[in-house]
Amino acid sequence: MHPPSLSNRSIEAYAPVTSGDRLERLRELAETLSDVRVLHVNSTATGGGVAELLRSIVPVCNDLDVETDWLVMDADDDFFEVTKAMHNGLQGNAEPLTDEMKATYREVTEANAVEIEDEYDLVLAHDPQTLGMLERLEERLPDAPILWRCHVDLTDPVEDYLAFVSAYTDPIDHAIFSRSAYAAVDVPATSIVYPSIDPVTAKNRSLEEGELAAERDHLDPLSFDTPVVTQVSRFDPWKDQFGTLEAYRTAKAEVPELQLALAGGMAGDDPEGLEFYERVADEAVDDPDVHVLTDLPDATINALQRLSDVVVQKSLREGFGLVVSEALWKRTPVIGSTVGGIPLQVEDGRNGFLVEPDDATSAGDRIVDLLEDDERRRTFGDNAREHVRERFLLPRQVVDLLEIFVEALE
Ligand code: UDP
Repeated sequence: MHPPSLSNRSIEAYAPVTSGDRLERLRELAETLSDVRVLHVNSTATGGGVAELLRSIVPVCNDLDVETDWLVMDADDDFFEVTKAMHNGLQGNAEPLTDEMKATYREVTEANAVEIEDEYDLVLAHDPQTLGMLERLEERLPDAPILWRCHVDLTDPVEDYLAFVSAYTDPIDHAIFSRSAYAAVDVPATSIVYPSIDPVTAKNRSLEEGELAAERDHLDPLSFDTPVVTQVSRFDPWKDQFGTLEAYRTAKAEVPELQLALAGGMAGDDPEGLEFYERVADEAVDDPDVHVLTDLPDATINALQRLSDVVVQKSLREGFGLVVSEALWKRTPVIGSTVGGIPLQVEDGRNGFLVEPDDATSAGDRIVDLLEDDERRRTFGDNAREHVRERFLLPRQVVDLLEIFVEALE
């Protein structure tokens, strides 16, 4: 296990976008937890939504004087191939689950669990990768409640995989899901907590004209002089970049100068990423208006989400989909599929449009509808900003989590 390096955060930085009542509640909860030491555990320090969340939650909790550590599992590709198959299986894709895979999972999770030597009053483990550590953690820290946060879309899990992870859920005192429909695991208590974006980071803060112009240059040859549709996602079949390409082609038949940006990266715990990226890049190679962009810095992602006319998130499964709120916060309308956490964020006909996940043609038609109506794009953008401000910014999520901590420690 290793701690990732983190930059400091001050809760004061959130005052301009948070109500006084919410900040007051945060301080009250933090006071109750002032003698509590919390540990977060997950399987990657970079890439993907969980790392993105922890990079903000952990320093903010420390600034509030709730002592909080974050440890990342040490593992190699053999383990991550197993856990990616688990992720896929839990999201409904039947891949074989062999005894060898189960043994690899057990071995690596146990080896990581024994490395936790400090004392903690509460443990919050994230996602299926960590489940195998919980039994040993419970033995080591018998008085600490064990919480498990599942960020995976559990709407339609493959039975074998659900049975495999369920064998590890006994030590869990309280499970946290991103949506009520996901509560498929049998545990004594569950809560729903919507994830959130952090409005003060390089990814999401407002950009001055000059900064925006500099980032626009970094994105060259993508030009914002003609319409741009964007998807920002890990290269992963669930994110359906091929469906987005199809939607773009439908729209391009009506708007010939249209460009598509597919920005993505590879998460540290996702060995499938590179191969899928190569397939997407191959498919796009003949069209100079399709830009496949990898490993952009956060400020460049920020500018891309801000400067795009429309963002598409046509995932086939999606735990929550932070990228949707990231775009909406920047006043960019989103066309999203009716899966996972996307409909919580996209209000059909108010800040974007919802389409069925297998309906790339409708997604393409909706792109055209939005591109043809500047006034509607602006109204949707304003609605989008307010929707995220109310529901999906970091302080709200920290309140929700600390309330659960207080309840679990009672
Ligand atoms: N992300 C990024 N660069 C990329 C692709 C994704 O910084 O090239 C970030 C994205 O901005 C978001 C997170 O990774 O903050 C993805 O979270 P989301 O919940 O949308 O999906 P996940 O990857 O967790 O399935």
